[in-house]
Amino acid sequence: MYLAELKFKVIADTDFSRAEAAIRRYIESLIFNGQLWGREFPTAWQQDSFNSRVVLPAEDALLQKHHSPSALVALQQLSGAGLAYPQCQILGMDLMSQHTDPCQQAPFYILYSRFSDSCSPVRCGEHFAPVPLYQLATAEPDHERLIRWQLQFQALDEIQMQQNRVLRKSAERSMQQLHSRLNKQGRRLARQLELANKVPVYYALYSGSSAHCAQEADKACPGCGNNWHLNQPLHQLFDFQCVPCRLLSNIAWDCQNA
Ligand SMILES: [Zn+2]
Ligand SMILES: [Zn+2]
Repeated sequence: MYLAELKFKVIADTDFSRAEAAIRRYIESLIFNGQLWGREFPTAWQQDSFNSRVVLPAEDALLQKHHSPSALVALQQLSGAGLAYPQCQILGMDLMSQHTDPCQQAPFYILYSRFSDSCSPVRCGEHFAPVPLYQLATAEPDHERLIRWQLQFQALDEIQMQQNRVLRKSAERSMQQLHSRLNKQGRRLARQLELANKVPVYYALYSGSSAHCAQEADKACPGCGNNWHLNQPLHQLFDFQCVPCRLLSNIAWDCQNA
């Protein structure tokens, strides 16, 4: 991914709060369409312009042809706040984030996230590299629901990864149980993506701990009860795959270290 600066030139009378609101609206609409990554976009007022630092999944991510309807509206509204259309300057590769998937079209996708990710929750099935969301079809105006699902998933993962966990069991249950609200939401989003893109979309079901480590490798698919153990792990991460249920998972982490 790329670190870039967006420069919003002041072209008419404005004040800080109007400019700030217009820039926030525009940038947030890009985030919810997967054209930018992260939740923060430090912005400085420098004499005749406002400059925001952002991370792009691809050099051409900000082209208007990728914009959602709400991004186009937000773009138009910049002038009402005294600002020109932004100029984008790429500063270089971002060393802190994953490389974007090179595929034009992946053979299948995986909906997957971890607390430390700063990238799309959709991975290419072949390379396991993040796929920019704006490149994926959706029946909705943008990918806001997917981004909001990822925010909740990462927040719970963050909680259950801490040394002195305050909510370990409930956070882990949300991530691990097939029928938790988090996983139901995620699987529904995966199905919608599959329908819109006509490519299989698997849901990566987290598995952290198990009360029965001895039987962990033989556990059945939680969706259909069938055997789903792979002969060879996929991406050195997934030991289980169920094609009809569109699920991937792993031998519980705690059992792997035992
Ligand atoms: Zn790929
Ligand atoms: Zn199954």
